[in-house]
Amino acid sequence: MNTNEIKSLNDKHIINTYGERKIALVRGEGTHVWDADGREYLDFFAGIAVVNLGHCHPVVTEAICGQAKKLVHVSNLYYIEPQVKLAQILSENSFADRWFFCNSGAEANEAAIKLVRRYWAEKGTPKPGIITAQESFHGRTIAAITATGQPKYHKGFEPLVPGIDYAPYDDVDALEKAITPETGAVLLEPLQGEGGVRVPSDGYFEKVRALCDEKNVLLVLDEVQTGLGRTGKLFCYEHYGIEPDVMTLAKGLANGVPIGALGCTEEVASGFGPGSHAATFGGNPLSTAAAAATLGVLLEGDFLQQAANKGEYLFSKLGPIAAKHDCVEALRGKGLMVGIQLTAPAGPVVEKMIESGVICGPAGPNVLRFLPSLIITEEEIDQVVSKLDVVLGGL
Ligand code: PLP
Repeated sequence: MNTNEIKSLNDKHIINTYGERKIALVRGEGTHVWDADGREYLDFFAGIAVVNLGHCHPVVTEAICGQAKKLVHVSNLYYIEPQVKLAQILSENSFADRWFFCNSGAEANEAAIKLVRRYWAEKGTPKPGIITAQESFHGRTIAAITATGQPKYHKGFEPLVPGIDYAPYDDVDALEKAITPETGAVLLEPLQGEGGVRVPSDGYFEKVRALCDEKNVLLVLDEVQTGLGRTGKLFCYEHYGIEPDVMTLAKGLANGVPIGALGCTEEVASGFGPGSHAATFGGNPLSTAAAAATLGVLLEGDFLQQAANKGEYLFSKLGPIAAKHDCVEALRGKGLMVGIQLTAPAGPVVEKMIESGVICGPAGPNVLRFLPSLIITEEEIDQVVSKLDVVLGGL
């Protein structure tokens, strides 16, 4: 099918939650994708921070195909070998001791909200309150949109889940004021993604950790977008020299196969017992085999260090472009997660970049966002930066 044929079927049969799109992508390889009319693009968005190893990475493809021939799904009524192997790899490379697997970031956050509430209830000191940040994004289930501190995602879905309140991001004093004796957990992104790629000030997360300890409140980090090498470390919290009590993952975990994960300490894991939470597809053989293969590549040799170096290279090239164009208000981010705050709406800039052969996206109304896969090369970065220079020059 060509783009027009795909578009007309979409317009007839798909519920219109995503609005109009310009292209239909039908093939990907590494950092490149092709549309239904045969046009090639350099992908600087990686499916919204999902294909961190690039499209159809051979190691992950082999794991998917091998597992698909062996066993795709059985349910959690039985032990699942790839699932326990994945949990072992994640435990060996993070603060977390135990894992629960599901299918998306929203579902992982939903599980985290349930876990922290249940943890305090089981301890006999129920504290159902959860504080999240203004401008945050945690997904689209009803609890996850409630946790998302942006009213535009709430509109028309009220009543929301009770017990979730908001404090400004990157403001420890405000967070402290928001915590009450009812507060059981603070849920934050280590670096806000959808809210405009906002990097907290140095020392913020150390203070948040200390505050949570002082108030006996659990710290939950949503690493759905920042995790799996995106910011130059396997998990973003590693930059801050702290450890959370609970962490959620999704997006890049299986390099494109749907998966979500909740990791936590042994202590917090005691909040869930048999029957307390479940997901039919969660941690199934196919997704967990793909995730284990993905982590194998991410953790091999100096892969993560190289990703961090490429992030530094990208920022070093974007700095002069940001300084040169008056329409750029700020350049923010970490590793290969970049936000360019513009004085103009980001949507038309994204469209012009796509017309010039580069896939990228927005983060809120005025922020242009780059999320290339971690295998991007310096030459490809140079190409994108020079195209951006032209597009910004034309604004
Ligand atoms: N949490 C964060 C920080 C995200 O960026 C996202 C998606 O963009 C989500 C949660 C929701 O993930 P999903 O779309 O897989 O439900």
